[in-house]
Amino acid sequence: MRALVYNGPGRISWEEVPEPSIAAETDAVVAVDATTISWSELSALRGGAPELPRGRILGHEAVGRVAELGSAVRHVRVGDRVLVSSVSGCGVCRFCREGRYGQCLGGGGSVLGRSVDGTQAELVRVPYAGTGVHLVPAGVSDEEALMLASVVPAAYEVGVLAGRVSPGDVVAVVGSGPVGLAALACSKLFAPSRVVVVERSATRRNLAKHLGADAVVDPEREDVLEAVRTLGEGLGADLAIEAAGVASAFELAVELVRPGGRVAVVGSHVAPATLHLERIWQKDLAITTGTVDTSSIPKLLELVRSRQLDVRALVTHRFVREEIEAAYETFADAERSGALKVVLTAAG
Ligand SMILES: [Zn+2]
Repeated sequence: MRALVYNGPGRISWEEVPEPSIAAETDAVVAVDATTISWSELSALRGGAPELPRGRILGHEAVGRVAELGSAVRHVRVGDRVLVSSVSGCGVCRFCREGRYGQCLGGGGSVLGRSVDGTQAELVRVPYAGTGVHLVPAGVSDEEALMLASVVPAAYEVGVLAGRVSPGDVVAVVGSGPVGLAALACSKLFAPSRVVVVERSATRRNLAKHLGADAVVDPEREDVLEAVRTLGEGLGADLAIEAAGVASAFELAVELVRPGGRVAVVGSHVAPATLHLERIWQKDLAITTGTVDTSSIPKLLELVRSRQLDVRALVTHRFVREEIEAAYETFADAERSGALKVVLTAAG
């Protein structure tokens, strides 16, 4: 089969590799119909993952058909259309029993494209398929399901649920890349009074409006504190969801919330940020953070199937997978290309 192989920083190639097969009774092998590229793969390509071995197939999100199943996997059958989650847990360790698959002690977690070969391939072996593979209901498209592999669960679990969005809340979303926009869409499920999105890119601000933001603010031209305070009765937001993954965005999120408010950090941070504990303490703030577990995928699939949640706007570019190297360039140059998520499909 063919797959996208990581050959060290800055070097990827779409090449012929051996096909995967079932290695444990809890495995599934999935024939990939659609996959996508994430920020973490770009970061690895830029040298940000020194532990990543050369020869590793990248990718951790996919939709496809079950090609082969281990004997212990009973919830899907060969031929079923399935979503491959970015996280799979053993299901029995202390953390998996709490739904915290990202912290799995049994060899699961965010393993695809990292410690095992990933989804940017014609076939992928999914370990712990019991939690890593989900039947896609009729009426949910491949692209919609693909957005639920990582992006939307991260926004929903780490932003909206951990941040406890409640009816009547003023919610500020800082950063409207794919995860920020998904946080906006998922916040609306809980009837906030207003959602304001803080974003530098005009394209992304427009998309945020399209997805139902009540206000958008350009931090380079407007006084963000003033704008959010005005919406929040002069006090600020009840909750700020930080979805940019940079220190300045976290520090801004802390400033935007009212006394007694919450800050939910969903952005992926790779560098330290300043924690102004002297102000956070004085304002009675609660800060939550974490990586995605994807234990919300069954719920999110149902929300998309029943048309309560619309994630279609997250897909901006489409390629056939033989064009994957061009797709990486488009995704990496998001400022110019306007890319949010790029979808790669099998030709024909
Ligand atoms: Zn586990």
